[in-house]
Amino acid sequence: MRPITKPAVLPNYAVPAHGVSALYNAMSDIVAPTGAPYRGTAQFTLNEYASVLDFLQRIVITNTGANDLHGTLITPADATNLIQQIYTAANNLKLDDVYGSARLDMISALGQYCSFCEMPVGDSSLAIEHMLPKSAFLNLAVLTANFLLACPVCNSKKSNNPVSQTPLGGGAPFITYQWPINWSTPLIPSVPVGMALKPASWPDYLNTEQVLFNAYMWPQYTGSYQSFDQQLAIYAGAALGYQYTQPNRLDTITTIQGQTITALLHGVRAGHAIPEDVSILTISRAAAFIQNNSVPVVAHNFLAPPAGVFPNSATMVGAFNFGTGRGLIDFNDTTTGTYFTDRRMFNRTKAWFNALYAFNRLNSAQAISPPGAPPGPTQAYTILMQEVCSTASANGFFSVWVTVFNTFAPAVAGAFGPTPAGGGLPNLTCDFINGVTVNAPVGGGFPGTNIINSVP
Ligand SMILES: [Zn+2]
Repeated sequence: MRPITKPAVLPNYAVPAHGVSALYNAMSDIVAPTGAPYRGTAQFTLNEYASVLDFLQRIVITNTGANDLHGTLITPADATNLIQQIYTAANNLKLDDVYGSARLDMISALGQYCSFCEMPVGDSSLAIEHMLPKSAFLNLAVLTANFLLACPVCNSKKSNNPVSQTPLGGGAPFITYQWPINWSTPLIPSVPVGMALKPASWPDYLNTEQVLFNAYMWPQYTGSYQSFDQQLAIYAGAALGYQYTQPNRLDTITTIQGQTITALLHGVRAGHAIPEDVSILTISRAAAFIQNNSVPVVAHNFLAPPAGVFPNSATMVGAFNFGTGRGLIDFNDTTTGTYFTDRRMFNRTKAWFNALYAFNRLNSAQAISPPGAPPGPTQAYTILMQEVCSTASANGFFSVWVTVFNTFAPAVAGAFGPTPAGGGLPNLTCDFINGVTVNAPVGGGFPGTNIINSVP
């Protein structure tokens, strides 16, 4: 995951205009006393809408009614009914319509990339993703702090996780979720005693939210890189299984770790040639490599997760398998002839090789035209770096680019600005990070990157 700094405020995010309805009146009674100008044409603010959701969620969770500002008792049954209406209302009070209006602002702030797998998504399928699902945490449904962006695959895999997600290391799911809410299944073991069942109080419920936030590695947390690690996986046959390598500057589309790849596999599904796939057939690396097995690819994997690493966010989006200790390869296993529509692994692999090529070209350019060279025809490095930044932006997978670059040119901590004119240590990784974030190309770059945490 790319480390990001999430925006606190989305400038255009607001409850859309809506007509007056029975639902609207019921909701406005919760946040506006009689006489306040909510009935009629006034629209909810986001804070008011959030307050309504908070009020209703609290009643359902505690199974205790509460009075609205008109003194009318809202029973748990009333609250459930209102929630149902908010989910299904055919007007702009519908929950999806409200938070959905945040989408363009989120894209402006974070770029057109999935917050989890980092795949670029340039169409309407890049969606607002709720970190804690709105179905179980209705009170968080319209809060920017609970938003990320997700590609269709990650969104689908994540579903209602982490609520229904098996916790790190296995065990019972956090909560078996059924709409509207079912807290009857025990929570994770780390939840304080007394919270193993449905929270009995609102503070317990809020504490549960915090536990779930803390139990997962989200992209705005320090260390998000390690949660979606990068390595190249090479299938070495049934006996050896997958082997993992670090970036190798000799790697190309026809060689890996200096070994010649004898064929490129254009997709493994018979009759469905997909030339752009970086799926590789047969590598002459060693006898252990079995003929006619597809080889590659980039997968984040955690055969033995190091201390402090939390692959559970990768698990959440179907990108890490605790059973095998492997990443995306388990969900696109070319060794079994299975070909999924999940494109995350293939696109990530392509980004890996593109980054290798770019680094080697930059390295050559740097040799003939050092950073900080005076203006003129010798500025090849500077110009090429700008082009590489544009390429990387279009490719996506920021973490892959930085991983590859940082392997050969470890970033100088805190030195992400351009190499000083007239000298200074040239550092490709620092220049790259600066180039795709601080000086992002027009219409591109990786907006919202947390530069301080941007080195693996
Ligand atoms: Zn994704």
